[in-house]
Amino acid sequence: MPYAEFNIFEDDELYCVGIVVDLGEVLKPCPFCGGDPVINEIPPHTHVIATFMPDCKGECFIECKCSCAITAENKKKAIEKWNRRVKNE
Ligand SMILES: [Zn+2]
Repeated sequence: MPYAEFNIFEDDELYCVGIVVDLGEVLKPCPFCGGDPVINEIPPHTHVIATFMPDCKGECFIECKCSCAITAENKKKAIEKWNRRVKNE
């Protein structure tokens, strides 16, 4: 997982080490099979996907090898939706 580390000093002494995690890019494992999901971004004006995912309204979908998938209008929302779904189940 991508992250950055930084030291926090107080009165010239090391107080603690902070870690910044880029949550926007971190996908949780699949809730059904534990596998790693894959992000697929569909360029605008591409409608081929509608033939096998008729309910796709957006330009990004995240799928897993166990055939579960979610869709959203962009990558950020798709990641949020995927991670929220994992948490709810
Ligand atoms: Zn899965």
